[in-house]
Amino acid sequence: MSSLEERLSGIDARISARLEANGRSSDSLTRIVVSKFHPASMVRDLYALGVRDFGENRDQEASAKALEVKDLELNWHFIGQLQSNKVKSVVSYASAIHSVDRGSLLDALIKQTVERRTALDVFVQVNLTDDPARGGVNEGELLGFADKVAAAPGLRLLGLMAVASLDGEEERDFGRLAELSAQLQTHHPAATYLSAGMSNDFELAIDYGATHLRIGTAITGNRAY
Ligand SMILES: *Cc1c(COP(=O)(O)O)cnc(C)c1O
Repeated sequence: MSSLEERLSGIDARISARLEANGRSSDSLTRIVVSKFHPASMVRDLYALGVRDFGENRDQEASAKALEVKDLELNWHFIGQLQSNKVKSVVSYASAIHSVDRGSLLDALIKQTVERRTALDVFVQVNLTDDPARGGVNEGELLGFADKVAAAPGLRLLGLMAVASLDGEEERDFGRLAELSAQLQTHHPAATYLSAGMSNDFELAIDYGATHLRIGTAITGNRAY
């Protein structure tokens, strides 16, 4: 069995190779390690290996873990579906939220960030499927919704986030996402970031311009649900 260190360095080598193949520099990408379902001790181990960006998808777990490692200087990325009543908690530890996808959530975020001195980084999540359970704004509502996010004083719109479908159509999905990102940038030139790519599709996501990879199992090993 491979060690955490071996898996991390193996994935990082593949990321570097793919960036190079695309003529991109290593500082054009943030590799987030998704630590959900793994204990705070693994966050410490990864921190010791140089990881500074971690992803979590449930507030209950993330807030407890953030407290356990509050002595470490790291960035928490909230990547899961977010209920409005958890926003107050999430903004207390997260440095970025990747899953902003509806008006009620946006209202709660505005309320909790209006007095911040530095804006909170957010991505608008797009739903590339017909399944509303997957979260994300429908393509047709995307630009109007993004305008509202960009207008919020306590929020900084970084760009788009999506989860590709698992049906072998990742290439179609990432292609569509890149088109939507280009459209977004005609209205919001600073919103150039793209949160896409997981354990099974991160190399393809890099080809399509991903700037934030959310990698779990390929680095952490399987999650014990
Ligand atoms: C769990 C999760 C990931 C990581 O998935 P892996 O397949 O383990 O790499 C990425 N993005 C989101 C939104 C997730 O919930």
